[in-house]
Amino acid sequence: MTSIHNGEFLDITVKELMIPSERVAHVQVGNNLEHALLVLTKSGYSSIPVLDPSYKLHGLLSTPIIMESILGLERIEFEKLDSIKVETIMNTIVPRANTNTALKDMMEMLTDNPFICLEDDEGFFDGILTRRSVLKRLNTFLEI
Ligand code: AMP
Repeated sequence: MTSIHNGEFLDITVKELMIPSERVAHVQVGNNLEHALLVLTKSGYSSIPVLDPSYKLHGLLSTPIIMESILGLERIEFEKLDSIKVETIMNTIVPRANTNTALKDMMEMLTDNPFICLEDDEGFFDGILTRRSVLKRLNTFLEI
């Protein structure tokens, strides 16, 4: 039987598993939905952070939220894309944590969310921790 020793797991830091902010696809407050749809489609990610120019986190944006916002009674009103700003439709409920939080304390949040947004002590966006990166690391304990 394979077992993961508690100590080994506790040794893993969020910093070693996170995707740093400079590698996270995002949109900025003030961007319109056309730009956001372009970033989402080109990056292939289902949901991305909305930041302001100082890198403070404001929300999350996904393709379904965008499509919902331009859904008319009989058709999708694509012409609205360039006049709606991301901050008017983004989801402001964001799974977030301080980067220095222990990994074990993020596991419950990761069970319910594919990724957690990380902020530094000053509240600036630091990057994201994905469920995939944690599972990948845990899997190394299971390999013989
Ligand atoms: P993954 O487990 O790698 O498929 O990532 C899960 C989710 O995390 C993706 O669907 C995105 O919403 C988000 N994500 C992962 N990597 C990035 C990235 N580099 N930039 C923006 N969002 C990301």
